[in-house]
Amino acid sequence: MVEFSDNVARLEPSATLAITARAKALQAQGHSIVNLSAGEPSFPTPLIAAEGAAAAVAAGNTGYPPTPGLPELREAIARYTSDTTRAADPSIGSILVGAGVKQALFNLAYCLFGEGDEVLVPAPYWPSYTAIVHLSRARPVVAPLSWRDGFRVTADALETHRTERTRGLFINSPGNPTGAVAGRDDLAGILDWAGEHGIWVLSDEIYRRLYYADEGGAAPSVLDIPGRPEHVIALDGMSKAFSMPGWRVGWAVGPEAVIRQATALQSQTTSAAAGPSQYASAAILASSEREQVVAAYRGMLDRRRRSSLEGLRSAAGVELLDQPGAIYHYLRLPEGVDSLDTAERLLLEGGVAAIPGEAFGTPGYLRITYAGEDEPLAEGVRRIVEFFRRAG
Ligand code: PMP
Repeated sequence: MVEFSDNVARLEPSATLAITARAKALQAQGHSIVNLSAGEPSFPTPLIAAEGAAAAVAAGNTGYPPTPGLPELREAIARYTSDTTRAADPSIGSILVGAGVKQALFNLAYCLFGEGDEVLVPAPYWPSYTAIVHLSRARPVVAPLSWRDGFRVTADALETHRTERTRGLFINSPGNPTGAVAGRDDLAGILDWAGEHGIWVLSDEIYRRLYYADEGGAAPSVLDIPGRPEHVIALDGMSKAFSMPGWRVGWAVGPEAVIRQATALQSQTTSAAAGPSQYASAAILASSEREQVVAAYRGMLDRRRRSSLEGLRSAAGVELLDQPGAIYHYLRLPEGVDSLDTAERLLLEGGVAAIPGEAFGTPGYLRITYAGEDEPLAEGVRRIVEFFRRAG
């Protein structure tokens, strides 16, 4: 057996990616599996983005991009940020482009947290938060949120878990896996509280434009909060609202000193995000058709959200909330029912891949995504209803 270093002592591979791989392997063996596990919108890359990348490559723009991102992309991100939040134009120096939000989050956490620090992670959480905190040698402290409250995150819920060592907080609204969206007042309360205690807030807003309760389609951002403390970093990217997960572009907006240090880390690890992907992202973000594209994708997702919600409501014994954001339903299983076992049986007997709540720090739930195509989604919902009918 190979002995690995302490750096990766707590590392576990992504459960979501593992289940997705398993579902694909079963499909390859001829099993009929509806895959509702991976949070990946089914839409094509917007044509403007694809053409932006193709034009850049054809013109020979294939050298190393500057580590923090192409100037035209950082400018387009600054404009996009001020168009869709209440932030005044962020400076170019406050923006770091990485290979997805995941890399940007890792870089920031690695720069800000270390041995002896505690970082608050409200649960249910996206599993990479706790993994990233462990890789930084800090300790994730899970702050459970309540189903009855619609998984609302508030300063009061966090304060219970604060100690002298608390140095950071991850928030994620709209949230994966719950779809819950934090209101502006709750965000303002959290930022006040964090500012008072010198806590860094890493706000993962990758689903911000997938918000179905507002015509403009933008959930509240930490950047909307006037007078917010310095210690706040917002992250967003191309993977969800623009349906471009494979291009691997995400970014952080934060204090210039932190962005400089995270850039230095990126310069010694991966360098810049892939150049063609950055040209693609700049092309769509700067395009006058940007909002039309987002609105069209959002409209289709909302339709899928509503129809699947309606269908799943007849699943015996299962409860679910009508949540206004992201691309997931989080199904609450009856008291005492084991979610790992249920996910396994749902996959093998019911023919549907879903993620058990254990992956998100909350056993007793199953996450499904409604971001896939209409017909498989409808079939998946039918199978889930049938599975619970037989189980009940
Ligand atoms: N944050 C959350 C909450 C996510 O759900 C995901 C994707 N599943 C990511 C970040 C990853 O984003 P990216 O593709 O930009 O790395």
